[in-house]
Amino acid sequence: MSIRRLPPEISGKIAAGEVIERPASVVRELLDNALDAGARRVDVAVEQGGKALMEVTDNGCGIPPDEVAIAVERHSTSKLTSVDDLARIQTLGFRGEALASIAAVAELRLRSVTGEGQPGREVLARDERVIEDRPAGGARGTRATVRGLFRAIPARLEFLRAERTELGHIIAAVTRAALGHPHVAFTLHDGHRERLRTPGDGEVRNALLAVYGAALVDDLIELAPGETLGIDGFVSQPHLQRSSRADIALFVNGRWVSDRLLSAAISEAYRSVMPTGRYPVVVLRLTIPPEEVDVNVHPSKAEVRFRRSGEVFRRLSATVRRALASSTEIAPARLDRPVVDQFFFPSAGDRWQSGPPPPSRNLGTGAAPPAPPDDQPAAGAPNLRSPVMRPLGQVENTYVIAAGPRGLYLIDQHAAHERVLFERLANTADAPTQRLLDPTSVDLSAEESDWVASHADDLHRLGFDVAPFGPGAWLLRAVPAALGRIDAASYLREVVAEAQTPDFQRLAASERLRWTLACRAAVKSGDDLALDEMSALIRDLEACDLGITCPHGRPTVILLSRELLDREFGRT
Ligand code: ADP
Ligand code: MG
Repeated sequence: MSIRRLPPEISGKIAAGEVIERPASVVRELLDNALDAGARRVDVAVEQGGKALMEVTDNGCGIPPDEVAIAVERHSTSKLTSVDDLARIQTLGFRGEALASIAAVAELRLRSVTGEGQPGREVLARDERVIEDRPAGGARGTRATVRGLFRAIPARLEFLRAERTELGHIIAAVTRAALGHPHVAFTLHDGHRERLRTPGDGEVRNALLAVYGAALVDDLIELAPGETLGIDGFVSQPHLQRSSRADIALFVNGRWVSDRLLSAAISEAYRSVMPTGRYPVVVLRLTIPPEEVDVNVHPSKAEVRFRRSGEVFRRLSATVRRALASSTEIAPARLDRPVVDQFFFPSAGDRWQSGPPPPSRNLGTGAAPPAPPDDQPAAGAPNLRSPVMRPLGQVENTYVIAAGPRGLYLIDQHAAHERVLFERLANTADAPTQRLLDPTSVDLSAEESDWVASHADDLHRLGFDVAPFGPGAWLLRAVPAALGRIDAASYLREVVAEAQTPDFQRLAASERLRWTLACRAAVKSGDDLALDEMSALIRDLEACDLGITCPHGRPTVILLSRELLDREFGRT
């Protein structure tokens, strides 16, 4: 076959394919244009999931009449004049491709007026050619109407999903625009149905209310304004969880992005408060000097590249983490059935607590109490502050029941203790150790030995003292005080074995060691606790930064609120 230059109708369609993947891509491009035009009001109407019609009307600056026909040509833009501009793009669009691409794969009608009473212009384009161009009037702003998307490209048309699915993508696109631009009032109509209406009063909270409703917004934490330069928005409490990332909306200089780095930073922040496979609701807006971010790396501009990605990652992650730590709201239980039904009503024969309380045990880090952090009472003096949640007893040796200011609290003793130990292990630079009276030797495979040799520092920081003791053998001379009564040699063997698994390798070694250590050393379900042990546990939990979940993200405490109890007892 000989090489031929493609006719423009074909090359245009190929290029358009990169920009316009589905109806929602059209909507997103039109929204970008409206926002770039400084619109304060943007109305979107679609029919049949965008397949039949998509129309975006704005009240922005408009296009001068003699330029409306130029706007739909490829590589025509008003947003870029020199190569230098590319390095500091402040607008959402800049490639001058969107309208041309739309006109290549659909019929595009563009009507624009630059000012009240000014003569406007309307053009109709199809196959990337202007087929009508005439004067028009009307209010200031621009209306773009797109019909028959992919009608001339059966291959593309076939790939479109059900109307409902495409509509879902469109709703997501308008929702993101609305959350990222709270000073703009958006509406979205699907046929006669109104799907979205935001007030455009500049408050992200009000945009969120319009999108999600009050119940969800109550469970969001607002980042303290000005706390971290350039990051503002809302993140969800750990108990508000989703099964996908769909409700994580991240904006860089007003542009919605689906960015690996930023997603990873969010996951990192939620790592020990949300189970894997669960995702928070997040709306965060990053404001970064334009020259620090390259937006020209993706045809649909959904990915960006940061000049200092490490710093962006750390800052975002730390900010979200701080917000989570600042708000330790315990999730109130939402019971939909009576608390107790008659079959389970305790009878006179049932005993509330079986057996005498066991001898007291130190629930902290074992024999040697850890050096208290600076803001706590001096070393040696036990912290005798009474916990806010006052323990009453245990249920099935698994849950601690406590009374507190807002009602009745149920505490998962294992999860709670795990969290306490996890944070304690992180906060002490050198964890208290327990010297073994009888140093134990541990045999390890060559691979495991290598691992121990290269992670000696991490192990040491946690309180292990291991020394080489002949080929494949290690001498264990001291173990973390937190280990308590656990058999140290078998713990070390387990940790080292686990270190070889792929799951482990995703995390930093020191982190993973903390996880296993906290989990192994924590009281178990089934352990009998005395009241003062429960008190100590609760007090320690209350002092945690992220005390409301265990390191795996499961809740540590459930609240049966006063309101809930009143309701269940028919008092309200
Ligand atoms: P880009 O946005 O990358 O510049 P587009 O093809 O999306 O390219 O738009 C081409 C040009 O048309 C824009 O640069 C802008 O000048 C003008 N334009 C498009 N839509 C609007 C609008 N809604 N309001 C004002 N001007 C618009
Ligand atoms: Mg554009």
